[in-house]
Order: sequence, then structure tokens, then C-alpha cells
Amino acid sequence: MITIAGAGVAGLACAYELSRRGASVTVYETGASPADNPCSWFAGGMLAPWCEGETAAPEVVRLGAGGIDWWRQITHVETRGTLVVTPPRDRAELTRFARRTEHHRLIGSDDLAALEPALAGRFNQALYFADEAHLDPRQALIDLTRRVQELGTEIRYETPAPGHVDVDCRGMAADLPDLRPVRGEMALIMAPDVAITRTIRLLHPRIPLYLVPRGKGIYMIGATMIESGSTRPVSLRSMLELLGAAFALHPGLGEANVIETGVGLRPALADNVPRLMRHGKTLHVNGLYRHGFLLAPALAGQLATHFFQEQIDENHSERRTA
Ligand SMILES: Cc1cc2nc3c(=O)[nH]c(=O)nc-3n(C[C@H](O)[C@H](O)[C@H](O)COP(=O)(O)OP(=O)(O)OC[C@H]3O[C@@H](n4cnc5c(N)ncnc54)[C@H](O)[C@@H]3O)c2cc1C
Repeated sequence: MITIAGAGVAGLACAYELSRRGASVTVYETGASPADNPCSWFAGGMLAPWCEGETAAPEVVRLGAGGIDWWRQITHVETRGTLVVTPPRDRAELTRFARRTEHHRLIGSDDLAALEPALAGRFNQALYFADEAHLDPRQALIDLTRRVQELGTEIRYETPAPGHVDVDCRGMAADLPDLRPVRGEMALIMAPDVAITRTIRLLHPRIPLYLVPRGKGIYMIGATMIESGSTRPVSLRSMLELLGAAFALHPGLGEANVIETGVGLRPALADNVPRLMRHGKTLHVNGLYRHGFLLAPALAGQLATHFFQEQIDENHSERRTA
């Protein structure tokens, strides 16, 4: 039996990779359901390894590239790419973004209008990352939970993990000295009159915005990376900046209804690269920062390989000593 603490995206991905290889797994989760989660529930759901390469380490890009196919086995994934746009006066930002990233092509206003008619005439150029994707993280967590349970894993909700677990995926609640919280704020808006079908990143000078379609006229918008562990609700200033950037992307979003706002604390390590870490007899899977959905599949695969390799090693040494 393998025990896991935490049923966020990391804990669930680990449970899936272990149980599909035949392990018997129990997950402990303090929350009452997938929605009762301090971080994964608030994510944008972008699976955007090449865009993330603008600021992330090359390892994030490499590990993230496999995430899209992994999620396709679990939940509905929209592979419509990412468009990166910037107001004409900030074109240098687009050039800078292009220089720091790969796997994109520069398109003009006609191609942009063909891809996203709602943005016709609004931007002269865009970077198109055609192979990137997005998912609805809430549906993904629900679907992954169901898959894990179908494979025989027991998830004990409203049950804090016992003193010792084999795998610790508690995000910011983990007892790791190097972990720091990075606050992210988001809003869900309903704009049935604006039809955007793929993730858009606006390189706005003050607040770089991302918008992720959730279907039926609902969009998730986010922007912030605040080095803070505060879980206070979104401030008026942040909301003004977020909504102002959304308005700059498309004035039609000015008519949107704000249907939810939320805050999540992303667990980050000093270099913002997640990893497996052994502390005593527990393996920690943590530091997923702004890449939990993108990178949980790769880390869970590493964890499962590690576990089964250890078992093989133990069996070998048992046989040798028998
Ligand atoms: C606004 C925002 C936007 C984001 N957008 C994206 C994106 O577009 N793409 C992407 O890939 N990532 C995105 N992320 C990042 C992603 O959400 C995180 O990297 C990821 O959620 C971290 O997952 P986790 O499982 O490590 O931690 P968590 O989701 O925090 O899960 C930890 C779990 O452990 C449980 N727990 C805590 N203590 C205990 C205990 N004692 N016993 C048992 N259980 C316990 C908690 O209840 C929780 O369910 C975004 C994050 C935010 C906040």
C-alpha cells in the first residue's frame, strides 16, 4: 500500500501513475471534495510549455511538452494553440517574447483575424504557438479523481494525512524549508457576446494578462505573480488592473459579468523548478509553481518509476540475502 498526502493536481497525478502500474494507493485529503483546494482549483488550465519558456527554465519546457498528450487520456483538451498579442506601441515586447521562446510563428492581422475573428483589426501582429493547448482545470480534477478511483485508489476526504506518508503532495502545507508561496489572483467572467476560442496572452506593459476560454461564453482571466502568502480576497486595485487589461484586449469584455474571483497560493522552490525530494522515508512532489497542470504528469511519471525501481532493488537485495 502506498500512501499519498494531498489530492491536488500533484497528488492525483501521482495516484494515477502509481495505480495504473498496479500499486494499491490511498490518498488523504483535508478538503471535502476536489473543489475544496487551495491552489489547483483556481488554475487557468494553460498547457503552454513553449510560452512558459519566456521566463521558465529549459527543463520546464522539456518536461511540459509531454503534458498535453497525458491530459488527453484523462479529460477534454482544447489543442487550439496560444496567441500572444501586444498593443502596436509595445511591439518591442512581442519581439522580446519571440526571442526568448521557440515553437511559434509570427502572423499578421489577416491570419490573426482568420484564427480569432473577435480580434480582427485589434492587433497588427501576433505570435502563434500552434501546438499549445488548454483544459478546464476543474473538470480535469474531477475527471482525474474519477479515473484514479476507478483504478481502485481510495481517496479519504476530510482526513488529514497521518504522521508518515510515502508521498507528500500537500503543496504549500508541506513541511519543506525552501518552499515559498506565490499568490495568484483570477477572475471568471461571462461574456457571451465575445467569441474567443484559444488562450490569449496580452503583453500589456503594466499587467500582462492571460485569458483562457472555458466555453459557453465563460473566460478565466489572470495575471498576477505576487510574492506573498496572503489568502486575502483580491484587492480592488488588482481587480481594476486585471479588468483594465481584459478591456484592452477586447472592449466587448467591458460588458462581461464577473461571476467569480479567487486567490491561490502556488508552491514554489527557489529556482521555480518542481522536483521529487526525499526527506526521511517520504518522497515530496512539490514546487509546481505556475506549472502544476503542465508538469504534474512528468513528475508523477518520475515518481512511479522511482517507486517501482526501488521495489525491484529491494527484491533483488532480499533475494541476494535470502
Ligand atoms: C491563478 C492561478 C493560475 C494558474 N494557472 C495555471 C495554468 O494555467 N497552468 C498550470 O499548469 N498551472 C497553473 N497554476 C499553477 C497550479 O495551479 C499549481 O502549480 C498546482 O495547483 C499545484 O498543485 P499541488 O497539487 O502541488 O498543490 P495544491 O493544489 O495546493 O494541492 C495540495 C492539496 O493538499 C491538501 N492538503 C494540505 N494539507 C493536508 C494534510 N495535512 N493532509 C491531507 N491533505 C492535505 C490540500 O487540501 C490540497 O488539496 C495556476 C495557479 C494559480 C493560483
